[in-house]
Amino acid sequence: MSEPLVDARRQLADAVKILGYDDGVYANLAAPRRELAVSIPLRRDDGTTEVLTGYRVQHNYSRGPAKGGLRYAPNVDLDEVRALAMWMTWKCALLGVPYGGAKGGVTIDPRKYSVAELERVTRRYTSEILPLIGPMQDIPAPDIGTDEQTMAWMMDTYSVNSGHTVLGVVTGKPISLGGSQGRASATSRGVVHIALQAMSHLHLSPSESTAAVQGFGKVGRGSARFLAEAGVKVLAVSDQYGGVRSDAGLDIPAVERHVDETGSVVGFPGSVPIDNDALLELEVDLLVPAAVEGVIHAGNASRIHARLVVEGANGPTTAEADEILAGRGITVAPDILANAGGVIVSYFEWVQANQAYWWSEEEVEGRLAERMNNAWRDVLAYAQRQGLTLRTAATCLAVERVASAHDMRGLYP
Ligand code: GLU
Repeated sequence: MSEPLVDARRQLADAVKILGYDDGVYANLAAPRRELAVSIPLRRDDGTTEVLTGYRVQHNYSRGPAKGGLRYAPNVDLDEVRALAMWMTWKCALLGVPYGGAKGGVTIDPRKYSVAELERVTRRYTSEILPLIGPMQDIPAPDIGTDEQTMAWMMDTYSVNSGHTVLGVVTGKPISLGGSQGRASATSRGVVHIALQAMSHLHLSPSESTAAVQGFGKVGRGSARFLAEAGVKVLAVSDQYGGVRSDAGLDIPAVERHVDETGSVVGFPGSVPIDNDALLELEVDLLVPAAVEGVIHAGNASRIHARLVVEGANGPTTAEADEILAGRGITVAPDILANAGGVIVSYFEWVQANQAYWWSEEEVEGRLAERMNNAWRDVLAYAQRQGLTLRTAATCLAVERVASAHDMRGLYP
């Protein structure tokens, strides 16, 4: 079993024990309800054929349709998708979003394929998983390596096969095609709502605090921008090619322009290079890992100097590292809380698309902030009442909601 799934199951087992549930509840929630592996034959631009592998895992749908992103990355495997799907179940339950959890993945390095090839991969993958998805069944969204263009192709493929346009089958679509205001920045906005709540709880004033952000994609880039806008001095940022650091604080809008021009943060004028591992160990108040799983592990957790870790990525801290950080008094705002802004605005997008009635950006932002801040309060209160870490408290709250839905529905037959 790969590390993310081991960690996800351990978090579930801890919560089940604290909640006093029996082994049957664990068994019911440890395994996905449904999973599908598909072959994706791809005609390359040079005329050759290659066969890729894709997955869609529905971890749970007791509270509503399954929901979760689609990841294109070279290391995607079934266990990783299973773990990510389970975290989606907890995320939706914790935030009171009426969905279960799912995740999809294709084992592919999208940087090595043309746009036309990626379109063919996406359309074939979508048609292979067609029986599983739908606005009332399972609703994909972007994740690592996919974007609003990917969602537009998925929506089109599903719609052509249905004989009519179905806007509610995916979220994270372009605004011109039934997307929502505020969806593109939603995960980052949510990360910063939680970061500011946690900083206030720890008596860290934004204008006197420093931060490092790992990852400069859909989550990290906006997180760095919104942190800087809140007055936090962002000392370092990174992407898959490397990182940059400035002790005076980086000019984030200028870093963004550099990325738009060159494709990477690397080489940003006036900065010094820093690699992704060193960035995690910087002396900062706030660390935002916003890239991939498992970057904070038993091997480096004792060298994390941040006072607060806010998880923009899914699963960036391993279970072993979690214990080390807790033992060192480092507060961790867990992924299922901190990065839930994306799925919250996905939910808003789905509601708008199904009603064909669109909200203003202010409405979206206001409702997002309210949900994130309420969830922070719930998790903090539960953690303090029970003497738990924020992750364990968040997982317990989520598992309790899913288990209670199961209980009320009863077992069929
Ligand atoms: N991929 C995002 C996540 O991991 C968003 C999922 C969604 O909007 O359905 O939370």
